[in-house]
Amino acid sequence: MADAIVRNVTHEVGRYWVQSRSQPDQEHLCDLLYFDGNGKCSCQNFQFTCEPKLVRGAKPDKTLRCWHLRLAREVFLQDVLTVMARKEKDGAKPKRTEYQLKR
Ligand SMILES: [Zn+2]
Repeated sequence: MADAIVRNVTHEVGRYWVQSRSQPDQEHLCDLLYFDGNGKCSCQNFQFTCEPKLVRGAKPDKTLRCWHLRLAREVFLQDVLTVMARKEKDGAKPKRTEYQLKR
């Protein structure tokens, strides 16, 4: 992926500003939780290509995401995994094996 700037919207889980590729002085707003977790973006590509299908009831799918959504999802996933990895390391949660034994 290119080195576009992705900024989390302060205090809003799953919402990101993603820098435009064609116009670096502009940003698109991505809401990852929209459309049952498919995500929604303010760019024209998403609005004209992906959104109409989602509005008609299409299920979340990687083909229904613009470049900005894919990038924001990557950042979101890394943030979540980092938090999970640190919690596990700190012993805040049972170790994975102990957890499995209890079930
Ligand atoms: Zn977009």
